Amino acid sequence: MPTGQTDMTTIAARLQAVRARVAQAAHACGRRPEDITLLAVSKTWPAEDVRAAAEAGQGAFGENYVQEGIAKIATLAGMALEWHFIGPLQSNKSRDVAGHFDWIHSIDRLKLAERLSAQRPRAMKPLQVCVQVNVSGEESKSGVAPDEAVALAEAVGVLPGLQLRGLMCVPEPTDDQALLRSRFAELRRLLAVLKERGLAVDTLSMGMSHDLEVAIAEGATLVRVGTAIFGQRDYSHASRT
Ligand SMILES: *Cc1c(COP(=O)(O)O)cnc(C)c1O
Repeated sequence: MPTGQTDMTTIAARLQAVRARVAQAAHACGRRPEDITLLAVSKTWPAEDVRAAAEAGQGAFGENYVQEGIAKIATLAGMALEWHFIGPLQSNKSRDVAGHFDWIHSIDRLKLAERLSAQRPRAMKPLQVCVQVNVSGEESKSGVAPDEAVALAEAVGVLPGLQLRGLMCVPEPTDDQALLRSRFAELRRLLAVLKERGLAVDTLSMGMSHDLEVAIAEGATLVRVGTAIFGQRDYSHASRT
């Protein structure tokens, strides 16, 4: 993991810049910045960088790899942070997520949700969940197909130990702003369908470092930002489990 390069001041300054981007994007489309949650994606970065961000006022962090995430959760247990699991999850690792995280954004099949439901310790608050939708079709692997998303969300929504909060997507990488916008619009449309069907959902998890403005213009309520806060990731030493 990178050491020594990213000091506290750098992370605090980058955080401030990202918050300013979120606020500006919100104002540009007549939304309130406080209606958009900033999730700091800390995957591959050490617990000390998370601590620096937390000391600069950041409360919610996203992780993609189970073992790496729970190690940081344990290290920073005294800080009352909120932890979101946002990566693809193998069923055999579901217990670690159920036992340690506050949120998961990457529910893409009922079997995984059923395992998390059964494994969520009842002493903990319900696990907050989003269904991940593959809005880019065959070009991306993760997520449920758009035409199956509503049925999956409805099935997830009744499971004990879980609280369905909404939908998440990661569009294919593209420089085509109109295409990107249409992907986010598709997720927004699906969330509206869930609301029409009476589900109490409030979360559109979409937008990352390079496209958070477009996502906010299309209604994102939570943006997941890594690089713009912590810097360019180096995967060579990361434990990818
Ligand atoms: C890594 C990751 C992010 C953050 O991406 P950046 O481009 O670094 O902001 C957001 N969402 C998911 C699902 C990720 O895996």
